[in-house]
Amino acid sequence: MGKVAPFHSVKEKNKPASERVHHTNDTQCAPGRDIPKHERVDGTGGYRICVHCAKL
Ligand SMILES: [Zn+2]
Repeated sequence: MGKVAPFHSVKEKNKPASERVHHTNDTQCAPGRDIPKHERVDGTGGYRICVHCAKL
């Protein structure tokens, strides 16, 4: 449960390139869950998967 299509935050681009991530779970991943709906962008954005989502 909670597995969704890849998404990332519109604010991700404000972080250093090495810290930018995308998520694939919007309930079990706390950082992913905390991204408000209006800040979500579909797709990976070309960023690596977040460490939490990678384990889910
Ligand atoms: Zn995540």
